Amino acid sequence: MAPISQPKHDRYDVVFLGGGSGGVAGSRRAASYGKKVALIEISDATGGTCVNVGCVPKKVMWHAADIADKIRHAKNYQFLDVPEEPKFNWKVFKPQRDAYIRRLNGIYDNNLAKDGVDYYHGFGRIVSPTQVEVTQKDGNKLIFNTDNIVVATGGRPTIPSDEQIPGASLGINSDGFFELEDQPKRVAVVGAGYIAVELAGVLHTLGSEVHMFIRGQTILRTFDVTIQETLTNWMEKTGIRFHKGHQVTKVEGAKGQPLTVTTDKGDVVEVDCVLWAIGRHANTEGVGLEELGVKLDKKGDVVTNEYQESNVKGIYAIGDVSGRALLTPVAIAAGRRLSNRLFGPEKFKNDKLSYENIPTVVFSHPTIGTVGLTEAEAREKYGDAVKIYKSSFRALYFAMIDEEHKEPSVHKLICVGAEERVVGVHIIGLGSDEIMQGFGVAVKMGATKADLDDTVAIHPTSAEELVTLR
Ligand code: FAD
Ligand code: NDP
Repeated sequence: MAPISQPKHDRYDVVFLGGGSGGVAGSRRAASYGKKVALIEISDATGGTCVNVGCVPKKVMWHAADIADKIRHAKNYQFLDVPEEPKFNWKVFKPQRDAYIRRLNGIYDNNLAKDGVDYYHGFGRIVSPTQVEVTQKDGNKLIFNTDNIVVATGGRPTIPSDEQIPGASLGINSDGFFELEDQPKRVAVVGAGYIAVELAGVLHTLGSEVHMFIRGQTILRTFDVTIQETLTNWMEKTGIRFHKGHQVTKVEGAKGQPLTVTTDKGDVVEVDCVLWAIGRHANTEGVGLEELGVKLDKKGDVVTNEYQESNVKGIYAIGDVSGRALLTPVAIAAGRRLSNRLFGPEKFKNDKLSYENIPTVVFSHPTIGTVGLTEAEAREKYGDAVKIYKSSFRALYFAMIDEEHKEPSVHKLICVGAEERVVGVHIIGLGSDEIMQGFGVAVKMGATKADLDDTVAIHPTSAEELVTLR
């Protein structure tokens, strides 16, 4: 289904700006209540960051990397004629991955049409709390009147300017990673968060030489310390070259040529690709928010209350643009719940998303799962009432594998008070990505250590460690 070029209505019950995870989910939910809904998307493809340059192509690449590891392990399981080192054909795989994303874009478009959302292609700008202007590709402008405007414009990668770091623009960001036609042989990854860790892991596991430039001594510094240390040590052991406590000061070279990265501590490294992964910021430029007095915080995110309302009546913000827990399921849940509350039945009149205990996974090698408070956060909040349970082990899968390839597993529970309520679960190791969801439910329901202990273990799995901790 192509986007609509001529306005179907000049008045809508709600207009969503942005056709990513939040906008698509929220608009479809509103339309399901029989409302007139417009969705405005500037890019040629619906689905936003997650589908086009985020979760989905990233997870596909993670699977490719995981297969490379399995090929490395195959000889230990006595498979014959397996290559010493897997050879990945990036050039051929990339169009195959892109074709899958295009299929998903088509499914998103069809779902919008099926649910009766009017999808317009163009740049959305809020003219007043009751009016949105859409500038179409050919410059044509449409105006929609409405009482509800939902800003779901997401965010984009932050990259230093050439004034801040000379030559910074010679590098790429995560969007550029998904455009790479060939696998770079040598890569400098700058940053220490989700994206740096995930993309460095994919590149390294597929055989690139990877240098990580991090400001601190560990990656993922907002995660529990056990997770930080376990993954940093393992990545280092597998051959990723860390430049800890280093800040990049310049990048020299030319696009398509080898690049030289220099740091404040004097490291000089030649690579084929520099990947900036130092965080993201909200897409609010030109959207008309400041002009209307919509409050943005210091980082530029739209400030919202627990009901996703901005300080201007009738203007809401959901997903990454509202700056809390930048995750697809969060954007989706915020969008759906807002539409439930605005347009749904009486039972939803107070519907809102709780931002507490959101489980999340890092698709590193091995993966990480986490929910709730870190040990440091729990100790700050509950002091001596905190009790930690922890187990370090090797998943059974690795029993057959050479020592150098045996990935670590660590499972950690953070409990509080006499009843030992579980306020945090932090796991790393084989299968952590799939294990986490169920334990997320348990923590949300207020599980105690005794509840976990009362649950019969599933054997032999890694997950059983969490119900047998002593
Ligand atoms: P977006 O999905 O970014 O959608 C915003 C849309 O608004 C875009 O399509 C944009 O083109 C459009 N837009 C912007 N301005 C305008 C305008 N003025 N008018 C019209 N349209 C406009 N999350 C997970 O949960 N799991 C993961 O594994 C995961 N992996 C990720 C990997 C990477 C590399 C990245 C970058 C992100 C990842 N995320 C992941 C985060 C996830 O992608 C985002 O949290 C999610 O996409 C946010 O949804 P959103 O609707 O707020 O914004
Ligand atoms: P993050 O905020 O996760 O991490 C960025 C990190 O880069 C910071 O924590 C900081 O680490 C470091 N950094 C910041 N500024 C600089 C600088 N100037 N120089 C060097 N390092 C710097 O951002 P990402 O871009 O990695 O990801 C954005 C968000 O997208 C994530 O927070 C997550 O919510 C979402 N996402 C989710 C995924 C998933 O669910 N699996 C996967 C990918 C993204 P330090 O302070 O230690 O230097």
